[in-house]
Amino acid sequence: MAAYKIIDHTYDVVVVGAGGAGLRATMGMGQAGFKTACITKVFPTRSHTVAAQGGIGASLGNMAEDTWQWHMYDTVKGSDWLGDQDAIEYMCREAVPAVHELEHFGVPFSRTPEGKIYQRPFGGHMSNFGEKPVQRACAAADRTGHAILHTLYSQCLKHQCEFFIEYFALDLIMENGACRGVMAWNLDDGTLHRFRAHKVVLASGGYGRAYFSCTSAHTCTGDGHGMVARAGLPLQDMEFVQFHPTGIYGSGCLITEGARGEGGILKNSAGERFMERYAPTAKDLASRDVVSRAMTVEIREGRGVGKDNDHIFLHLDHLDPADLELRLPGISETSKIFAGVDVTRQPIPVLPTVHYNMGGIPTNLYGEVLRPTADNPDATVEGLMAIGEAACVSVHGANRLGTNSLLDIVVFGRAAALRAAATLKPGTSHKPLPKDGSDLAVSRFDRLRNANGSMHTSEIRLAMQKTMQMDAAVFRTSKSLAEGCEKMGQVASTLPQIKINDRSTVWNSDLVEAFELENLMDCALATIVSAEARHESRGAHAHEDFPDRDDVTWQKHSLAWVENGKVKLDYRPVHTYTLTDEVEYIKPQKRVY
Ligand SMILES: Cc1cc2nc3c(=O)[nH]c(=O)nc-3n(C[C@H](O)[C@H](O)[C@H](O)COP(=O)(O)OP(=O)(O)OC[C@H]3O[C@@H](n4cnc5c(N)ncnc54)[C@H](O)[C@@H]3O)c2cc1C
Repeated sequence: MAAYKIIDHTYDVVVVGAGGAGLRATMGMGQAGFKTACITKVFPTRSHTVAAQGGIGASLGNMAEDTWQWHMYDTVKGSDWLGDQDAIEYMCREAVPAVHELEHFGVPFSRTPEGKIYQRPFGGHMSNFGEKPVQRACAAADRTGHAILHTLYSQCLKHQCEFFIEYFALDLIMENGACRGVMAWNLDDGTLHRFRAHKVVLASGGYGRAYFSCTSAHTCTGDGHGMVARAGLPLQDMEFVQFHPTGIYGSGCLITEGARGEGGILKNSAGERFMERYAPTAKDLASRDVVSRAMTVEIREGRGVGKDNDHIFLHLDHLDPADLELRLPGISETSKIFAGVDVTRQPIPVLPTVHYNMGGIPTNLYGEVLRPTADNPDATVEGLMAIGEAACVSVHGANRLGTNSLLDIVVFGRAAALRAAATLKPGTSHKPLPKDGSDLAVSRFDRLRNANGSMHTSEIRLAMQKTMQMDAAVFRTSKSLAEGCEKMGQVASTLPQIKINDRSTVWNSDLVEAFELENLMDCALATIVSAEARHESRGAHAHEDFPDRDDVTWQKHSLAWVENGKVKLDYRPVHTYTLTDEVEYIKPQKRVY
C-alpha cells in the first residue's frame, strides 16, 4: 500500500455535512463555545437543502387557528404510526420557536398583507385533528430551502466555525465502540485528513441516488449511512422511501406540493380530477403516498396521459397568472426549462419520483446515534450523532409530511447542539487516537484508487438504480421484492470488479463516484431486504400481497446491518409514549381520507 501523508486536526466537534441540518448544528456548536469544524463535499450553499421549495411546517396560526397538537396529530397519522411520538411531540412543539428563530436570523419569508410570515396549505396538514386543511407551511416564495441555507451559512460564519469545503468524509474513526473522529480526503490537493473530535455529527443527507429517477441532487449518496454500516452499526426503517407525486416527467425535477397547495390539480387522460375519488376530503392534497399510488393506479389502468399513457397532468393554468408569478416563480421557470411548458396555459407532465428517505441512522431525540441491543433498544454510541435526512429519529415513521423535513433539520440540528452543550465542556482534553484508527479509511482509499477490474462505476451504479426503480417502487409484491433482493445481491457482488481509470488524488471525480457507489450500495441493500421482510403495508411501503397495516406484528422499527453485501435484520420497538403529559399517546387508527 502506498504511504499516504495524513494531516491531523483536533476539534471539540466535527460536523459532516453543510445542508440545513449540518449548518444549524454547526452554528449551535459555535454558539455554545465549541471549537467546531464542518466538513462538506460541496460548497455549503450547494447542498440539496437549497432545492427545497414549498415551505417549513409550524403551527404559527398566521392564516387561521392552529396548534402544535394538531400538527403532532397529523405527523403521527402521516407516519402511519411508525414515528416515535416523543420525538414527534418535541419537533412539533419546537417548530414555532424554530421558525421565529429563523426569521430573526434573517430568513426572508414571504409576508401576509399585515406583515406576518405567509403560510400555505400542504398535503396532510389539517386543523382540528384531521377536520380540514390548514395553512401551516411557512414559505419564502417557492425557494424556502434556498433562503434558509444562505441565512444559516452566514450565521455559521458569524460564530467563527471553520469550514473544510470540498473535503470528502471517508470513514469514522472508532475505538471500543465509541466514535473518536473522522477521516476525510481533500479533493482539491489530494491530502488525507484525520479529524479528532469528542463528537462527530453526521448530517450527510439522504440516498435518493440509489434510484434511477429521483428529485434529489447527485450528491445525495448516503455517505453517512455507508460510514455507519462499515462501523458495524445498523440502519433503521430503510424500506420507507417516499415518492413525490410530482416529479417532471423525464427529468425528475421537483414541482413542489405547494403548487397543489396554491390550487393546482391533477387530471388523467379523461380530464378527470381523479383525486376526488381516492381522497374525498383532502383530494389533491392527500399525503404523498396516497397521491403517488392513486397516480400509479390511474396510469396502470390506462388513464395516463401522453403518447404512452405513462404520466399525469398537473394543471395550474386555471390559476391567476399574477399569483403564479408571486407564489410559484421557481417552478414556473423549472417547468419551462425541463418540460417546455408555459404553466399559465399548459399542464405540466408529472410522475411519482423518489424524493425522500424516511429511514436512516437511528437516533434518539437528542441526535445521539443508537446501537440497539436486546436489553436496551435505545442504547447510544458514545461520540456519534446524526441529524437531518441522514438520520431516523424517527419523526417521519413510514411516511413524511411535506414541510416536515426542513423542520426536522433545523429542530434536530439545534437539538444536537443543545445536547453537546449539556454533555461536553468546550476545550475538554483529548486522548491520543488509537494507532489503527485511520486504517479502515486509508486501506479503502488505496484499494479503490488502484482498483483495476473490468467494470466502470457508472455501469454498476446504473444496474443498481434500475433494479431499485423496478423492484422497490411505489407498489411492491412478494415476487418483485424477492427478485429485487436476488438482483441486488448480484449487482453488489460486482463491486470488487470496479475499475478506476484515474489514479490521481487531486479532483479525482472517478474515485469520488466509486466511494459514493459503495455507500449507495449499502443503502440499496438495506432498503430492499428490509422491504422484502416487512409483510404489511404501511405509509410509503405498499405491499400488494399484504395490503393492510398490521399493528400487532409490525408496529416496530426495522434494523439492518450491512456487511460485505449481506444484510442482517432485527427490530426495535416504536416509542408508544409522548414526551410530556400534556398530550396523550395517539393510538393507531384506521386511515380515512
Ligand atoms: C427538490 C427537493 C425539494 C424539497 N422541498 C422540501 C420542502 O419544501 N419542505 C421540506 O420540509 N422538505 C423538502 N425537501 C426535503 C428536504 O429539503 C431535505 O430532506 C433536507 O433539506 C435535507 O437536509 P440535510 O441537511 O439533511 O441534507 P443535505 O441538504 O442533502 O446536505 C447534505 C450535506 O452533506 C454533505 N456530505 C454528504 N456526504 C459527504 C461526504 N462524504 N463528505 C463530506 N460531506 C458530505 C454535502 O456536501 C451536504 O453539505 C425537498 C427535497 C428535495 C430533493
